[in-house]
Amino acid sequence: MEVRRTVQVKLSVTESDADLLHETIRQFRWAANYVVLNAENDDGYVETSKGKLNSRTYDDVRRETELHANLVQAARSRAADTLKSVVAKWKRGKNASLPYFSSPFLEYDKRSATFHDDHASLSTVDGRITADYVLPDEPGETPHSQYLLSDEYETTGATLHYRDATDEFYLHVRTKVDVDAPELRENGTVLGVDLGIENIAVTSTGVFWSASELDHWHREYEKRRASLQQCGSRYAHENMQAVGRKETGRFEQLLHRVSNELVSEAEERGCSHIAFEDLTDIRDRMPGAKRLHAWAFRRLFFYVEYKAEERGITVRQVNPANTSRRCSSCGFTHEDNRPSQDTFECLKCGYQNHADYNAAKNIGFRLLGKQTAGEGGAPVGVRLNTGMMNASGVTTAPDLVRAGVHGECHGR
Ligand SMILES: [Zn+2]
Repeated sequence: MEVRRTVQVKLSVTESDADLLHETIRQFRWAANYVVLNAENDDGYVETSKGKLNSRTYDDVRRETELHANLVQAARSRAADTLKSVVAKWKRGKNASLPYFSSPFLEYDKRSATFHDDHASLSTVDGRITADYVLPDEPGETPHSQYLLSDEYETTGATLHYRDATDEFYLHVRTKVDVDAPELRENGTVLGVDLGIENIAVTSTGVFWSASELDHWHREYEKRRASLQQCGSRYAHENMQAVGRKETGRFEQLLHRVSNELVSEAEERGCSHIAFEDLTDIRDRMPGAKRLHAWAFRRLFFYVEYKAEERGITVRQVNPANTSRRCSSCGFTHEDNRPSQDTFECLKCGYQNHADYNAAKNIGFRLLGKQTAGEGGAPVGVRLNTGMMNASGVTTAPDLVRAGVHGECHGR
């Protein structure tokens, strides 16, 4: 199986090489935007096929720019991928406008760049330049020593980014390694995960990760951004970008921690599967969800997916319909089962519990239902706080979790 990692590395370049990189980025963005401009037919149909977009634009872009042929192709691929995601949104009935590439970046592959241990050779509009890596001095294992300098990890390409605020170039280097696939767990035991605003994640085993830290830092950063915005100067604008990056870094760290603990929980409880709700359009379903939440959920899912995969645990998304209204004990589904945001109370059987915990169990059951339908006969169940429940709803150990007692609570 293939394991992929991206490592960020700061570049040290001379002033004249920096000028070349700026011009290359400018032409790369022009090429990507040119492809978008030529993607729309007169009847409004948007072409997304890489081959067709290529024949429509390749000669023009080669003529109008000084870009290496592989950079022309990379710009076209990037435009095609973005167009595809816009068209997919339209098909789901969403509003979205055609992309415009305004941020300073460009895509390198193994033909337009060569990656060495301490420097990279990068194609520009005027031949290649050498860019030295600025590596951290700190001893011990860093992402750089682990992936970038490792003989096992192969470098497959990189995205070049320019950070206006600090006037620095960064390469986000993509690496991969082929490792023996871990033995896939096949016991059919599911850990259900519910995502939310108050608790980022809650498992069917009753572990809660509070969103308070995420919210706290988001509010702090919003305050700083607001006061910077009032200054309105270029300096303030640059500071705002720096605040944004610091915020992203802190949130990523937090989500890494949650994902590590979540995968460990699945492993310790002997689960072969982790079930999340389908993340498509999650903001529409979740009242009060901000862009930050949707971003955090996607990030968390991505981290859990690759970390679980390395341990032989399969991660899936399931249809979220009614998972918050259905009683995980008797199956009765009604919107009045949810008297408040936190509380679940079944109108039929009287089962009471934290609403997020009830939903996490339902999400587990939903994946279980799918598996049982296809695989017939395999012993399967959803891992609960104190036992297992199989598809027909028989608990093999009593489910002792009651409202207000959430087993283990990672109140972070
Ligand atoms: Zn019930």
